[in-house]
Amino acid sequence: ATERKAVFLFFGGTGDLAYRKLYPSLFNLYRKGNLRSHFAVIGTSRAKMDDDKFRAAIKKSLADSGNRTDSKEASDFVSHFYYQDHDVTDTAHYAVLKELMDKLDKKYKAEGHRIFYLSMAPQFFGTIAQDLKTQGLLSEGKDVFNRLVIEKPFGRDYDSAKLLNDALSKSFDEDQIFRIDHYLGKEMIQNIEALRFGNTLVESLWNNRYIDNIQVTLSEKLGVEERASYYDNSGALRDMVQNHIMQIVSLLAMEQPVAFTDTDIRAEKVKALRSLRVYNVADAATNFVRGQYGSINEQADYRHEDNVPHDSTTETFVAGKLLFDNYRWSGTPFYIRTGKMLADKFTRVDVVFKRPLVDIFAFPQSQNTPLAANVLTIFVEPHAGFSLQLNAKTNDTGFSTEPIKLDYLVDAQKSKDTPEPYERLLHDVLKGDGTNFSSWPEVSYAWKFVDQIRRVWDLQEPQFPNYTPHSMGPAAAEELIQRDHREWVYRL
Ligand code: NAD
Repeated sequence: ATERKAVFLFFGGTGDLAYRKLYPSLFNLYRKGNLRSHFAVIGTSRAKMDDDKFRAAIKKSLADSGNRTDSKEASDFVSHFYYQDHDVTDTAHYAVLKELMDKLDKKYKAEGHRIFYLSMAPQFFGTIAQDLKTQGLLSEGKDVFNRLVIEKPFGRDYDSAKLLNDALSKSFDEDQIFRIDHYLGKEMIQNIEALRFGNTLVESLWNNRYIDNIQVTLSEKLGVEERASYYDNSGALRDMVQNHIMQIVSLLAMEQPVAFTDTDIRAEKVKALRSLRVYNVADAATNFVRGQYGSINEQADYRHEDNVPHDSTTETFVAGKLLFDNYRWSGTPFYIRTGKMLADKFTRVDVVFKRPLVDIFAFPQSQNTPLAANVLTIFVEPHAGFSLQLNAKTNDTGFSTEPIKLDYLVDAQKSKDTPEPYERLLHDVLKGDGTNFSSWPEVSYAWKFVDQIRRVWDLQEPQFPNYTPHSMGPAAAEELIQRDHREWVYRL
């Protein structure tokens, strides 16, 4: 592995995300040699603590994620960690962070490379970015890099996202900003590009002549858990559709990039999003449905979760139909759905091909059932893999056909060795590769699409709750697709 050099500064450095995901991911990069001796990590938050206490917390975070921490390797790793308490709203105090960063940069010979990771409430993103620049924390020099990593959510509608982006771009250029969408760090999401552009068999059929519809499902089994106060302000449309689903859909819909580089890929994703039809009021109302889970016994009832108002109208489920107005996709809808408290936890993409134009096996005297559609399924999680459903002959006398499946499932050992999304994404940040991050144009088109749905929903009080826990959502999600004489490939 190539060693990368940098001083990291984690805002929200004592937060849940930092301990649960970010530090263990850095440790994996360290064990693989992507980080060796020329790096340091500063954690900052309002809490007071010294370096020793912080290092002990880092060890615990490594242990909690399944690492052995009695090794020399673990001790060497945590010796690169430093803590500095700081209130992000106190501009004068950034001087303390600057001094520490400069000192560690020299000590570890990090060559001026800096990564600022904002893992805290988004209302602070703008202020922090501004103070980092005005208080001189960005290093200068020809070959140095300063990169800003931003956690989600990126705004709550187009207008707020634009304000945030304007604030960030006063201090950082677009190619220095890495907006995290951890779905883009998932193996099988990245595999969409390999599957499409690495296979004639796939890409030559990847259009409205051969594909009837595409279905994207992000299904969660749990309810809101501890995130209720955040979630109730956001809802499934903002929390899942605007970012993860729009990113997945644009990878599925885009044209072949000129080359496999962040600039080329982004250009194609943006082009795809530009041809996504933004609905008028009537179409938004028919093409999107929302749901909220609830039950008579209040056992699993969104409105009875802690920190959720009893009359909350926040949606915990969304299903919708997306249409691209371009040559490749005109007439082939993309159906999407996501929700909490559904039947199972999984993410998958089902690509449903058109049936043969003529079914020669279905002549009048034959007993044959009509040919099934070919379906290519991309299993994203929990098990990664593909499955291709084809029609074949049954092995009895006479002649009938049946659907069979060609499966490729990533084996247990290989999936254990697959890097976690945050490990990949942090590695990409160190390399300066923006492929798996959301660019501002992508974010803005996604918001403009989603805002239109939200606008329509806000006009009308929903009839909630409308789906039972552990189902696949409200009846309206079935009607949405049945109206088009289709059905969800994954069903209960
Ligand atoms: P958290 O509440 O656990 O941590 C917030 C951190 O910010 C703490 O370290 C706190 O001390 C610090 N902080 C708060 N106010 C401060 C101030 N004025 N000055 C300095 N420090 C301050 O949050 P989290 O769950 O770790 O999430 C962090 C970010 O990541 C958020 O943007 C969140 O939306 C995003 N995110 C989290 C998860 C997750 O699984 N936890 C998943 C996706 C996105």
